[in-house]
Amino acid sequence: LPGLPRSKEKPPPGEFELIARLCAGLKPGRRTILGPGDDCAVLAPVKRPLLVTIDSMVEGVHFRRPWFRPEALGRKALTVNLSDIAACGGWPLASVVNLAIPATLEPRFIERLYAGLRRAAVAAELDVVGGNITRASALAITVALIGEARRSILRRDTARPGDQIFVTGTVGDAAAGLKILEGRRRARGAARRFLIERFLNPTSRLRAGQRLAAMRPAPAAIDLSDGLWQDLGHLLDASHAGAEIDADAIPLSAAYRAAIGDDPELALGGGEDYELLFCARGRWSPAELSQRLGVAVHRIGRVMRASDGIRLTGGTRRGRAPRTAGWDQLRSRDSK
Ligand SMILES: [Mg+2]
Repeated sequence: LPGLPRSKEKPPPGEFELIARLCAGLKPGRRTILGPGDDCAVLAPVKRPLLVTIDSMVEGVHFRRPWFRPEALGRKALTVNLSDIAACGGWPLASVVNLAIPATLEPRFIERLYAGLRRAAVAAELDVVGGNITRASALAITVALIGEARRSILRRDTARPGDQIFVTGTVGDAAAGLKILEGRRRARGAARRFLIERFLNPTSRLRAGQRLAAMRPAPAAIDLSDGLWQDLGHLLDASHAGAEIDADAIPLSAAYRAAIGDDPELALGGGEDYELLFCARGRWSPAELSQRLGVAVHRIGRVMRASDGIRLTGGTRRGRAPRTAGWDQLRSRDSK
């Protein structure tokens, strides 16, 4: 057919050996009936709803190779997907991995990347059940992940006016780390290491998401991948709601303050923190939630009606909006 490649790209020499070596380290658990090596992996049936997600990390788009040890790259490729399962309050079950590899990349790099991914999978009690390798001009790691909802499912479309808005952990660290890696911001010592680590090696909040899924009613939630302001916008869009956010309440780490200062602009606009933002009904205090979720939780505002728009209050720079795509989108909606 016109437009279609005439034949499947032939695997380069050593490819099958590489795949065999990568798969040799995988030890699927009891829920996997048939792991890597056949045309499909086979999973035991589950009784509960399944969660399915997929995400890619592409060289030149999401990362530059010199920033990462290969193990860290593999781990992060899995973590960004685990974060989506966390945002829905689920348990990860199984994943498949596609590696797009430039011809110049050493097989050893791929083996180390896979070792990092494998270790992260074991830590998350997740089976890597299969994969694919293809040649490409840029390195790309794509992970598809299946999870299970054992409690409620956290959704974006269930926030209601009056809900309190919380975030886990601190925000803006990964964006600050990225700026440092890019040479656009300077920092020293422990702050520099912390911020860079938060970009290279983020944590998914699986446990926190699972505990949120046990709350009644189940909070609306989203993970912070695109940046707080933008992800908040996604959640509010889905819920047809507005919000009031207190700029002074945005949780900033000591390292962020050391490198960036007290201005939360980067924390509002910068992505890849992989913290959870959620909207809880009732009189939850941040202290109660921190204890329940096993991670620091801060209240940053509350859900309003859609007609109230999305307002940023407080701060020494009152009324000053973050200069991000996310903000532009919200401001234009605000002024409608
Ligand atoms: Mg997400």
